[in-house]
Amino acid sequence: MARVRVESLRKEYDVGTVVAVDDLTLDIEDGEFVTVVGPSGCGKTTTLRMLAGLEEPTAGRIEIGDEDVTDVHAKNRDVAMVFQNYALYPHKTVFENMAFGLRMSTDLGADEREQRVVETAEMMDIESLLEDKPDELSGGQKQRVALGRAIVREPDLFLFDEPLSNLDAKLRTSMRAEIQRLQDELGITAVYVTHDQHEAMTMGDRIVILNDGELQQQGAPTAVYENPTNRFVGGFIGSPSMNFIEVTAEQVGNGVRLRGPGRSDETVTFNLSSEYVTANTVVLESSQFTLGIRPENVEIAGESAQNAIQAGVDVVEPVGSDNFLHLDVAPEFIARVASDVELAAGDEIAITFDESDLHLFDAE
Ligand code: ADP
Ligand code: MG
Repeated sequence: MARVRVESLRKEYDVGTVVAVDDLTLDIEDGEFVTVVGPSGCGKTTTLRMLAGLEEPTAGRIEIGDEDVTDVHAKNRDVAMVFQNYALYPHKTVFENMAFGLRMSTDLGADEREQRVVETAEMMDIESLLEDKPDELSGGQKQRVALGRAIVREPDLFLFDEPLSNLDAKLRTSMRAEIQRLQDELGITAVYVTHDQHEAMTMGDRIVILNDGELQQQGAPTAVYENPTNRFVGGFIGSPSMNFIEVTAEQVGNGVRLRGPGRSDETVTFNLSSEYVTANTVVLESSQFTLGIRPENVEIAGESAQNAIQAGVDVVEPVGSDNFLHLDVAPEFIARVASDVELAAGDEIAITFDESDLHLFDAE
């Protein structure tokens, strides 16, 4: 396994008309499992293809282990890639699919190769499929074979490009657990790309968020969830998505009052305490912010609660243990409450939130 360093990586297509990856710098520790997430077209696949050596960077540097591999051909990089569409050789058996990469990338003898393939097949629970051809396998089995083919080579670095996207939800969950088990057992260094923030959050030691080819934020999943550094990350991480209100800030005594548009022509106000302002002096530096509040941090307030905001319930969406309340406060505003809170469409309620749960972003 190896550490990986990506420095100021850039990729342009079509003579600069498309900047797929823009000035990306990442440091990946030996044995770290990094998830890269972002919307379709944000540059995830391009980043992986540059790591694999399948795409030449326009600028920047890639190191794997202690070696600068920027100009090293794909076949001379000790990297294995697992794709969404499995990319198995259709005319080869499972055994041959797994042994092929091994023959190309190592100088093991035939007996050792066979032993490694069989051991890996046992680990992946596919030993009974070794003589089958890919078209005899289910989607889940094909993906296990594709994983086994990567693992058997014991590469320095694993690259995963949305490997579970073609599987149904239940299989996806079990394969996620499987990949995590392999990661624990083998201590692999991996870059795992997905557009699914839930997958990225649950699987990654570290999560890297891209948008429009640019790094938005990276960090431990909980740290990114708790402290998103911009509105994009706030809205992208977490489900349902964070609520946003454009507010104006004004100093009132030692505190700060936030005001923003509420429903119809009403105004929403929220007073930040002097303690909050002392701890977050940034609120004094601007008069315009985007206020972010996660649905799970919205509380139903008593009538006399401070900072209460009046809201009408438009829709109650039950999701098992919780209900999502769609409220009429802002164009889209959702509160997540326990399902035993009895509310129906048309009810008038008051909501509030703890100031420690607020996120303030630069105004749009
Ligand atoms: P993602 O994997 O996050 O969906 P990609 O890395 O595939 O994103 O694409 C990033 C951007 O680069 C997109 O705008 C895409 O259209 C463009 N792109 C990707 N591959 C090529 C290519 N071979 N030629 C031209 N543009 C490309
Ligand atoms: Mg892609």
